[in-house]
Amino acid sequence: MKNISSQHEAARKERFGYTCHACSRCCRHKHIQTNPYEIARLASFVGQSSSQFRTQSTLDGEGTALLQTPDGDCVFLGPDGCTVHPARPLVCRLYPLGRHRMGDGSERWHRLEPHPQSLGEYSESGTIGDYFEDQDAQGFIDAADAYVEWVHAATEIMNDIAQDGETAAFDAGILDMDEVVTSWCAARNEAPPSDVEARRSLHLKLLYEELDHLKGGRDEQD
Ligand code: SF4
Repeated sequence: MKNISSQHEAARKERFGYTCHACSRCCRHKHIQTNPYEIARLASFVGQSSSQFRTQSTLDGEGTALLQTPDGDCVFLGPDGCTVHPARPLVCRLYPLGRHRMGDGSERWHRLEPHPQSLGEYSESGTIGDYFEDQDAQGFIDAADAYVEWVHAATEIMNDIAQDGETAAFDAGILDMDEVVTSWCAARNEAPPSDVEARRSLHLKLLYEELDHLKGGRDEQD
């Protein structure tokens, strides 16, 4: 873990700077991926439930990427730029940097190829760490990592199940943070946490319980 922390620290000290001139070219013809946390943040920002948001504003209503207009613009691109800027997803916050989280938890950064007519300017005025601090990205990074870890754990279990010649599937709604948390709290006559970070923690706890349940069912069969 110490090595990973030093690796993070070293990578985040790399010189980097980017000045956006709001040409909005990075908001067109891009696959803007989203996780349950980002959907909940966006939904709350536009005053919808995450289910409504998924249906209206994500690709195939699945909640994994933002919808585009027929011209290829992000559905939230307005005449003056991003209309959901305070709640924009991680990839938008990090642009023009790309972040890869490796299997061992370390991260790799790379500079994305800008659109040929992009007005954005690269520089070395700061560091990668300064850049994503300015973008208020750390909470989104933490959420992305937590959901990716759950997906890995779920994939491992599903693979084990498939290897045994069995089948299992999760309800598609399981990744809808607000829906899962609200239903769980309603069943206990509790109010759902109003803070999105608390809802994220509870959602992940419930997702892992779902995996334990799946594993428990298999252990009982053995
Ligand atoms: S969410 Fe905002 S910043 Fe991200 S692609 Fe859409 S319009 Fe652009």
